[in-house]
Amino acid sequence: MSTLKIHDKYFKPYKSKKKIAKYVSYLVKQVENDLEENEIPLFIGILNGSFMFAADFIREFKGECEISFVKFASYEGTTSTGQVKKLVGINENLEGRTVIILEDIIDTGNTLTEIYNIFKDKKLKQLRIATLFFKPDVFRKELHIDYIGKSIPDKFIVGYGLDYDGLGRNIPSIYQLTTQKMTNIVLFGPPGAGKGTQATILKDKYDLIHISTGDVFRYNIKNGTKLGLLAKSFMDKGDLVPDEVTINMLKAEVDKNADAKGFIFDGFPRTESQAKALDDFLSEKGEAINGMVALEVEEDLLVKRLLKRGETSGRPDDQDESKIRNRFNEYETKTAILQHYYEDQNKYFGVNGVGSIEKITLRLCEVFDTL
Ligand code: AMP
Repeated sequence: MSTLKIHDKYFKPYKSKKKIAKYVSYLVKQVENDLEENEIPLFIGILNGSFMFAADFIREFKGECEISFVKFASYEGTTSTGQVKKLVGINENLEGRTVIILEDIIDTGNTLTEIYNIFKDKKLKQLRIATLFFKPDVFRKELHIDYIGKSIPDKFIVGYGLDYDGLGRNIPSIYQLTTQKMTNIVLFGPPGAGKGTQATILKDKYDLIHISTGDVFRYNIKNGTKLGLLAKSFMDKGDLVPDEVTINMLKAEVDKNADAKGFIFDGFPRTESQAKALDDFLSEKGEAINGMVALEVEEDLLVKRLLKRGETSGRPDDQDESKIRNRFNEYETKTAILQHYYEDQNKYFGVNGVGSIEKITLRLCEVFDTL
């Protein structure tokens, strides 16, 4: 699980190494295209944040170039102080040179103002600004930026040279500040895909709470509760229990485990309105779903698995092929669309659900480890 704690705050993965490399290449290409033939640019990295970006940038830059660094400081903690404090300067003679500034991030533009000031009277041929990240929502200046790797919303980020109070610069990818402390995973797949079996293993490995809505309903049926009586008629036929009932039950289960490190949701959400309700419910707590991990298995194999399970599970909905087919029908018409719901948020991860339990666990762990 890759939520990071730095000092007192939590950070979640934001931009992978691969994505960063793409932004860097994109910037290098643009800079190269704009340079005149045989021109030797002087790149100036703005310390400390840009040291990694500058290193990757010039490693990829083809042709001759020089590199130097200047240093300012304008951040305390996670907010810009608005005051640009220190400077370790430039000794090179810059007259007639093309200087290209390499910034890790431009937000308010205070540092950029200083940069323009420093080079104002240096008789440069030209000054160009290249920044890996740009926060348009907080940029307050009328200053020109020539090259932008990626515009991002105003969220505090660390990694790839950027720090939070000194730490985090050595992380090779970018993380974003989050209030989220939990890891919440939807384990998804049609009936019989092996969600329950795998969730039981994974909850121990990752120290998460496993909530199976089917199990909670069955527990209530066994104990003859009001909820159990209500759910039984739907479950016995292989129909879904109405959303309102299921959503309220799920919320109560989550609230029972307020100190959990996170949850594996198994059998929930099963409809789009359940998925939306889950998102809203978690976001009220500053939490979110990290990912939907889906076990992919073809239907005929599933019917065989379920009938076999029905020989020992005692579940009426496992023993009759027409009820099983109805559960698939419910899955196909109401639940399968959730793949798109999570894909749209870049949170869908399909895993081959055919093979030995151990093999499938390994495949799932590979995904869990990235969430
Ligand atoms: P399961 O144990 O996940 O296969 O669930 C068994 C049955 O419980 C389903 O066929 C539904 O009748 C009911 N059920 C479980 N989870 C849900 C849910 N999220 N929404 C509606 N019904 C559910």
